[in-house]
Amino acid sequence: MKMVNFGARSWLCRALSTIPSNPLRVCVVGSGPAGFYTAEKMLKAHQQAQVDIIDRLPTPFGLVRSGVAPDHPETKDLNGIYSAREFVWWYNGHPDCRFLNPDLKSTDTAVILGQGNVALDVARVLLRPTTELVTTDIASHALAALKESAIRKVYLVGRRGPVQAACTTKELREVLGIKDLHIHIQQDDLVKTPLDEEELKNNRIQRRVYEFLSKAATSGASHPCSGQRELHFVFFRKPNRFLESDERSGYVSGISLEKTVLKGVEPGKQMAVGTQQFEYLGCGVVLKSIGYKSIPVDGLPFDHQKGVVPNINGRVLSDTSKDPPVLEKGLYVCGWLKRGPTGIIATNLYCAEETVAAISDDIEQGVVPSSSSLPKPGREGLLQLLDNRNVRVLPFSAWEKIDSEERRLGNLTNKPREKLAAWEELMKVATE
Ligand code: NAP
Repeated sequence: MKMVNFGARSWLCRALSTIPSNPLRVCVVGSGPAGFYTAEKMLKAHQQAQVDIIDRLPTPFGLVRSGVAPDHPETKDLNGIYSAREFVWWYNGHPDCRFLNPDLKSTDTAVILGQGNVALDVARVLLRPTTELVTTDIASHALAALKESAIRKVYLVGRRGPVQAACTTKELREVLGIKDLHIHIQQDDLVKTPLDEEELKNNRIQRRVYEFLSKAATSGASHPCSGQRELHFVFFRKPNRFLESDERSGYVSGISLEKTVLKGVEPGKQMAVGTQQFEYLGCGVVLKSIGYKSIPVDGLPFDHQKGVVPNINGRVLSDTSKDPPVLEKGLYVCGWLKRGPTGIIATNLYCAEETVAAISDDIEQGVVPSSSSLPKPGREGLLQLLDNRNVRVLPFSAWEKIDSEERRLGNLTNKPREKLAAWEELMKVATE
């Protein structure tokens, strides 16, 4: 496998040849979990397969290394407001966010918008004692900033109720289990409607999440001890607008939240609707963690509403208006670009299995054009194209050099690795 520098946020693969006597050539774009699982499944299913994985970065593994990627194209208004993606990339040493420098010293309060697993990850990193982070592979610049952080209170704001919280149990348990942390949940918010009961009956994860939250609401002291860190779950509130500080022009000083009620007649489909009642929550840092949306890849079909490449079981569709829809022969998709931004890492395993089954089926049925009927330049052609475009290509061995240097540096401070987080550092080590 080779890794080359190429722009892509998720991945697609194109089977390039099908003649059994010839190698089956597959190019996977994007080296995150979905890409790697697919490469692995392809190699297992087809002995003659040759797989190339290409990625924009000189470091592989996508979300496993740097948290998740695609972005809501939102504009930033005020200093102190960050997207959770930027923040996660910052503490994971992603070179695009190395210099985010979030200001964690000027305020004791952070508000996180959203209650999914990313929101919980971010809350945990802000609230966990840094003595417990030093032995992880957190980027050293982030560890230094967290050591000096003044943040003591974190508010996790959800527009719906505890029954609809988007997180999963493992992540919730971890954040609730942080040492010496005061948890605050309004008892009133835990009251369930008959529709909520129905929703819980049908979903084991939601049921467990609700149980954990109910237990946490009653098990601790009603007020924090002096100096104790606090985590507040705020339900039935949606962001209305950010407020600018009078003392520090250009900086956020708080957020106006609108109270919501749930509307909807079907369990699982209750929506948060604003009530025109507003309240103010003071804070100096806001992290928007309201999910992700894939970005289109040039020249590929894209469903802008769903944020996915239209597909059937991973087979890319070039025209969905026809019946049956027209397939892009030899082009497949996996991961968030296929199914939307949901699921844990292992979800990509099943997702990859489905896509590889579609590829295998198409090879058997002769749907994928063979190299004799439609000769393609394959890997050599790709390398030539990148060369024509002056794209610098790094092979997998360049990553191995980065990996070994990161491990060596990590060893010095008893960490699994010390991530190289700036482009220059990465390129220097990769090309030494
Ligand atoms: P998510 O699970 O989709 O959660 C998004 C949160 O933002 C929800 O609370 C959602 O509320 C809220 N939200 C969405 N739009 C909003 C709006 N306009 N205003 C206010 N709130 C809004 O997204 P995520 O946390 O970014 O995670 C993405 C995926 O990665 C998930 O499948 C997650 O499980 C996965 N992940 C897994 C791990 C892990 O396995 N450890 C770690 C991180 C992420 P509603 O429910 O009301 O829409």
